[in-house]
Amino acid sequence: MGSYRNRPFMLQWPGSYCDTSSSCCYPTTGKPASDFSIHGLWPNYNNGGYPSSCDPNNPFDISQVSDIESQLQTSWDSLSCPSSDGTSFWTHEWDKHGTCAESLFSQHAYFQSALNLRSSVNPLGGLSAAGINPDDGAYSLTAIQNALTSSLGHTPGVQCSSDASGNNQLYQLYICVATDASTLIDCPVFPTSGCSSTVLFPSF
Ligand code: 5GP
Repeated sequence: MGSYRNRPFMLQWPGSYCDTSSSCCYPTTGKPASDFSIHGLWPNYNNGGYPSSCDPNNPFDISQVSDIESQLQTSWDSLSCPSSDGTSFWTHEWDKHGTCAESLFSQHAYFQSALNLRSSVNPLGGLSAAGINPDDGAYSLTAIQNALTSSLGHTPGVQCSSDASGNNQLYQLYICVATDASTLIDCPVFPTSGCSSTVLFPSF
């Protein structure tokens, strides 16, 4: 099993969540920004596996994050259907993943850490600096990985999905973080990528 050193911070590209054969629904707060949003912060084992749903006695309690709720709505919005304000997504992420780090983080600290991490990285800017933009264009996976590595200082895992026509597209970034939930580290393992050598970067 190994230690909990690998703590992936997963970002998603909204254009690719919405571009698949299953539909997406914009949050009740409106269309999100054209930027990477938070999917989750997961306490994984170094072999890539992870514990889940570690404490049914510590369910998500929205009142514990009321002071950062609007920031969560902006940066950790849910695109699944039906439209929601994000509460069900945060509930899922806390109950399944967050409870497995409850010895380190309160509910508030867990969500605040994710928001801090989101503010500390700028993958879209790093891609843009390399001429890679969400313009429905096709880009080389190597160019994407190189741009992200120079922007983050560490190589993230890059995951792709298929759009409604079956085209390979940039979907998620798997950024590895130390147990302090703030220091970026080299990933001990990468998740399955699913990317081909050329991937689309959908507009949103
Ligand atoms: P996980 O991959 O974190 O274990 O589970 C993700 C769950 O959150 C899925 O059941 C999915 O339906 C739900 N969910 C709600 N909103 C979103 C979203 O915007 N993106 C993703 N990836 N999952 C979402």
